[in-house]
Amino acid sequence: MALVVQKYGGTSVGTIERIKSVAKKVVDRHKKGDRLVVVLSAMAGDTDKLLNMAREITPEPDPRELDVLLATGEQITIALFSIAVKEMGYEAKSLTGYQAKIQTDNHHGRARIHDIETAPILENLDRGRIVVVAGFQGYDSEGNITTLGRGGSDTTAVALAAALGADICEIYTDVDGVYTTDPNVYDKARRIPKISYDEMMEMASLGAKVLHIRSVEFAKKYNVPLHVRSSFHDQPGTLVVKEEPSMEKVVVSGVTYDKDTSRITITEIPDIPGMAAKVFTPISDAGIVVDMIIQGSSGEKGLANLSFTVPKADFEAAMKIVEKISREIGAGPVHGDPNIAKVSIIGVGMRHHAGVATKMFNSLSRANINILMISTSEIKISCVIDERCTELAVRVLHDAFNLDREPTE
Ligand code: ADP
Ligand code: ASP
Ligand code: MG
Repeated sequence: MALVVQKYGGTSVGTIERIKSVAKKVVDRHKKGDRLVVVLSAMAGDTDKLLNMAREITPEPDPRELDVLLATGEQITIALFSIAVKEMGYEAKSLTGYQAKIQTDNHHGRARIHDIETAPILENLDRGRIVVVAGFQGYDSEGNITTLGRGGSDTTAVALAAALGADICEIYTDVDGVYTTDPNVYDKARRIPKISYDEMMEMASLGAKVLHIRSVEFAKKYNVPLHVRSSFHDQPGTLVVKEEPSMEKVVVSGVTYDKDTSRITITEIPDIPGMAAKVFTPISDAGIVVDMIIQGSSGEKGLANLSFTVPKADFEAAMKIVEKISREIGAGPVHGDPNIAKVSIIGVGMRHHAGVATKMFNSLSRANINILMISTSEIKISCVIDERCTELAVRVLHDAFNLDREPTE
């Protein structure tokens, strides 16, 4: 008898018919004897609808109240799902994040899970019930409702699997697994049968939204095996597991893109100690997360240019801060470009193979795509490009590294 945590995403519970069909799937599994904890997202589009309603009142809704609002989406699906299970003659119990004792910090909209008291869930499982938990939500030390960031239901599921010591965490979604690139962008994308936690973590953080980044961090830390698979059929999907020696034979495993980025450049900064700290301290104080940073000579003796990227939503605020700082430190004009994107290639095999970066740069250049910034780590290379070239770049890189073909030994 296995303990299984299953998570169903927004499309999988997007209509009453789908909720009923997922309930049937879950009951069939329960009948086989598995102990099941089911984590649900809101119905597809509902979280956006709620967000838009709040934004009709003000562009910057109060974060505490926004979390109270957004958490209602998941409350709808857990109730409807439990009603469907009971209608089939089986026992289910829905639990909100608060009732499932999912404790988080107090950062509304991007809260992190600190602890989960498993007693309420275990007690219900022991009574033979299917336990149905609202994804994406928890509560802080003062009892306020918090949410975990968009796509956060994956993280609820993996955190529960870790806390309960589940045998497996199954993520059911609208694609058949993790692909070599977003299958909705390139039809030559191929399902990856098995991928390491590290590669999956890079893919998630570099734009592959099929898994929430924190869920993969949890899975790696607590060694929870993940199975990403389709909610529409029973074919195997992708296993996310510890790295195996054979995985290093594949140089590039996937291509990702992220359009949620923008670039700011400060020109002619005096090339003396302390300037970077002066620029980035107020930006981080404003809660803005900086991704890539590049500093180089401006051509003028003793002066430097500094470019960095921030999420598109923070572009205007970051520009205001930087323009002020630039005046204070006697730097030159500030340039901003919100219409950029980041394309990346990822693979643990890169550690031991030379020439991967060159191949990436050559392929982009042959397609006439200009590289604006580059950053690398042990297992990834990212290039910032014009946003309009994103899909072309993804296809070009996918072809260049033959990702449509099964890797050969
Ligand atoms: P859910 O609502 O089930 O959580 P998401 O929309 O969050 O589903 O994630 C699934 C989507 O992720 C797919 O529809 C696909 O467009 C996108 N995606 C992006 N990159 C990849 C990838 N490499 N492999 C699979 N899906 C990907
Ligand atoms: N409903 C939330 C969202 O749309 C959480 C999730 O689906 O994972 O972001
Ligand atoms: Mg998701």
